[in-house]
Amino acid sequence: MNPTPLPEIAVIVEQYRSFELRVGRLMQEICVPFCKGCRTPCCRVGICREAQESPFLQAVHGAIQGFDVRHGYLGCNGCKLTTGRPPVCHAFVCNLIVSSQPSDWHRYAIDCLGNLVGFVGKKACNGRHLVEALTDDDLRKVNIRQFGRQLEIAETALPILEAFLNHGELDDHAISVLALIRKCPSS
Ligand code: SF4
Ligand code: SF4
Repeated sequence: MNPTPLPEIAVIVEQYRSFELRVGRLMQEICVPFCKGCRTPCCRVGICREAQESPFLQAVHGAIQGFDVRHGYLGCNGCKLTTGRPPVCHAFVCNLIVSSQPSDWHRYAIDCLGNLVGFVGKKACNGRHLVEALTDDDLRKVNIRQFGRQLEIAETALPILEAFLNHGELDDHAISVLALIRKCPSS
């Protein structure tokens, strides 16, 4: 499969990549203190394989990093993919990290943050997630308007989460935006 994006989706590939990078940076700030000393990393080759096989994720990461049959994309310093990771890699946060959060709202915020990347591509390809597109023909059916609407919501949610995780405040408007990503704990 050619990792060069189809011209029809080149713009959304770039938007997705840029958004994933921003989410990844914030998630890293939260997770690195735990992950850097982790003796039982949660990465699995079977999950990495999705990034290797999905035409959309290939277009995002550009197939620059080699896939290792034993370790997938896991290197000595963690994941070698800065973008184009399967959405579950962003969404999964282990119990050690979750239980170290100071409140239910912090746990909720991390859950929302982890789901932002997946949210952007939800049902955007003929009713399936973007990363589930199997062929270039599938990718030509991407609903670009739906992708755009979801990206706009996720782009609104990201600074809200960043502010909350840095300063600890969520007003009603912030909660109503986040509720579009994940059901909030008070509802
Ligand atoms: S998320 Fe948890 S289990 Fe996974 S590498 Fe980090 S500390 Fe380890
Ligand atoms: S974070 Fe990277 S190394 Fe870990 S499972 Fe996902 S793609 Fe593989």
